[in-house]
Amino acid sequence: MVLAKRVSKLKPSPTLAIDAKAKAMIAQGIDVVNFGVGEPDFDTPDNVKEAAIRAINNGFTKYTAVGGTDELKEAIAKKLQSDNNLTYSKNQIIVSCGAKHSLYNIAQVLFGKGDEVIIPAPYWVSYPDQVILNDAKPVILNTKEENNFMLSAKELKKKITKKTKAIILNSPSNPTGSAYDKNILEEIAEIAVKKKIFIVSDEIYEKIIYDGFKHISIASLNEKIKNLTIVVNGLSKSHSMTGWRIGYAAGPDEIISAMNKVQSQSTSNPASISQKAAVEALKGPQDFIAKMLNEFDKRRRYIVERLNKIKGVTCAIPKGAFYAFPNVSKLYGKSYNGKNIKDSSDLANYFLDKAQAAVVAGDAFGADDYIRFSYATSMGNIKKGIDRIEDAINSLD
Ligand code: PMP
Ligand code: GLU
Repeated sequence: MVLAKRVSKLKPSPTLAIDAKAKAMIAQGIDVVNFGVGEPDFDTPDNVKEAAIRAINNGFTKYTAVGGTDELKEAIAKKLQSDNNLTYSKNQIIVSCGAKHSLYNIAQVLFGKGDEVIIPAPYWVSYPDQVILNDAKPVILNTKEENNFMLSAKELKKKITKKTKAIILNSPSNPTGSAYDKNILEEIAEIAVKKKIFIVSDEIYEKIIYDGFKHISIASLNEKIKNLTIVVNGLSKSHSMTGWRIGYAAGPDEIISAMNKVQSQSTSNPASISQKAAVEALKGPQDFIAKMLNEFDKRRRYIVERLNKIKGVTCAIPKGAFYAFPNVSKLYGKSYNGKNIKDSSDLANYFLDKAQAAVVAGDAFGADDYIRFSYATSMGNIKKGIDRIEDAINSLD
């Protein structure tokens, strides 16, 4: 069968792939600890579920406006104003089927043949593929662990060419957990404004942030950078609503209007019922987030402490998100049953086979010296999984 060329350049999402593999093993009765996919393990709050049930009972089950209901866009505008000090009108906001879909729509309307898009690595798995899918070129900027995986103005300048169309920023970051402070954002913004480069600012982990760190949206720094930025956010992480598929983007009218056009010819509106639930998530009580964060914080400290006690493993404490991203490169070159472990994929496979623990190889994030643990799983599971991984590492030759 001859498929379109673009498909051959794509790989399936590695994070979703490991989740599927772990779940298939669990279904076979294997006791796998799943550190794979990044998805809060908390139930969606009751008030949100009830809003969805009300929507169904009231017959709110039909098409809505393509880019989301006015009610939801108003709730999003209010959230952006109060949390991020950003003023957007309704025609500058689009609701999509998840933040991933918003990012995809942005890639469709901004990127094309001949464009270069700068992606700091370690990156979230879908950024390069979405760029490739739109015939543009991902330009990977490797950040350093000693700089907390944040890019510097100097490094950024080196990657900019006449073809640079955009930079994709993700703060707090999946997978590293690093979070950009105001100084660095100002430096990036200055360069972007000078060179007229768009910023795609993925802020989906905004609420998952520790030690009192204050999330700042780059768009809020000044009007010039706001006019070049598309802010992406959603409800998946903040309100444990991954399955509801609600994400959104806010930015210049022209870009949002083009995204609406693409969405009108592809998915139409996100589910009407999920939109009602999202209104409640944004406008209802927010105490759920603090409780979730408190639990994540305990796990974060525990897993990082345990990982650092394992010989050959070092792990920095993440500032945000719910991932630990240890450096495991000292384990490369060791072997098990005569089989050499040469990279992050070999190690992740070894952990799955030997320790029944699913992790994502750093290679998927453009950082082969690392592996990613999602600690969005119970403390009991974390303890069990790390015990097993520790044993597996100690039995390497
Ligand atoms: N951006 C990042 C950095 C993510 O980790 C995720 C989680 N899958 C997304 C975007 C997409 O989230 P969703 O589509 O579930 O809203
Ligand atoms: N953000 C999650 C992760 O990185 C979800 C998986 C995905 O959408 O790829 O694991």
